[in-house]
Amino acid sequence: METNFLDKLLADARPLAFKGQVANYIPLLGLADPQKLGLCVAEPDGALISSGDWQERFSIQSISKILVFTLSLIDSGFDKVLEKVSIESTDDAFNSIVNLETKNNHRPLNPLINAGAIVCLTLIDGKNMHEKFTRVLEFTRLLARNSSIEVDEDIYLSEKATAARNRALTYYMLSTGAIEGDVEAILDAYFRICSMMVTCADLARIALVYAQGGAGFFPKEIARTVKAAMCVCGMYDESGQVAVEVGLPTKSGVGGGLLSVAPNRFGIGIYGPALTDKGSSVAGLEVLKKLSKELDLSIF
Ligand code: GLN
Repeated sequence: METNFLDKLLADARPLAFKGQVANYIPLLGLADPQKLGLCVAEPDGALISSGDWQERFSIQSISKILVFTLSLIDSGFDKVLEKVSIESTDDAFNSIVNLETKNNHRPLNPLINAGAIVCLTLIDGKNMHEKFTRVLEFTRLLARNSSIEVDEDIYLSEKATAARNRALTYYMLSTGAIEGDVEAILDAYFRICSMMVTCADLARIALVYAQGGAGFFPKEIARTVKAAMCVCGMYDESGQVAVEVGLPTKSGVGGGLLSVAPNRFGIGIYGPALTDKGSSVAGLEVLKKLSKELDLSIF
């Protein structure tokens, strides 16, 4: 794959950023430059092909949910995790509460919405929430092959100070028995995980692990399950459209990142902080659609 090809994809998609807006419900995310756009593709031998603002650092946000889900399966096993969370799509936003009361016997519908990720986080090994957070950080560094990934303290504090919705849904889950323990400690770990700073290269390398069936880091069965979940619900209430238009397991984050897996082929990391109303990168999705089309990557 040529860098020129990626440069052209970015140049064509960059103008679309005006259609979106940077997230500002977490105040510090509102400072991002909406015009930024970067792309990194990790090839099977680990070589990276990069373009645009691929070296820009941004918070991983909900892309971390695939890592949390993976670790919960590794540490607690399928039966225990799937007893607490199912893998069904929702037609609601990532931070919706309504289904916790009305559907699925109080179990979050899937591990890639906030409620489901918070449940999975409690199922990761660790004597306390700080140890569980550290396990996620170390796992992220391992898969990204980047030991310098750190939490941005300011973004973490910015989310912590404004997280009424996440507090509401987590306390709600405590009341129904969906989770146990100290809600503030659980949320603290969740906010720290969402504030891990990554680049497109980190996301591409993590995606390559899933593209290669776990690449020896975890069993193929877990990689397959996480990819299936990404197809069904990785893009929340636009997962269906992304399945049709991109056709790859993909996860978005409100920091502007997109992680996409081309099984047995590539790991893809994209950054573009202007978001659709569903919370995913507008220009980034355009890049992904074109990349998938040009290289015939759709798994369907
Ligand atoms: N930290 C964000 C939140 O909980 C993550 C949301 C996202 O990236 N979709 O609201």
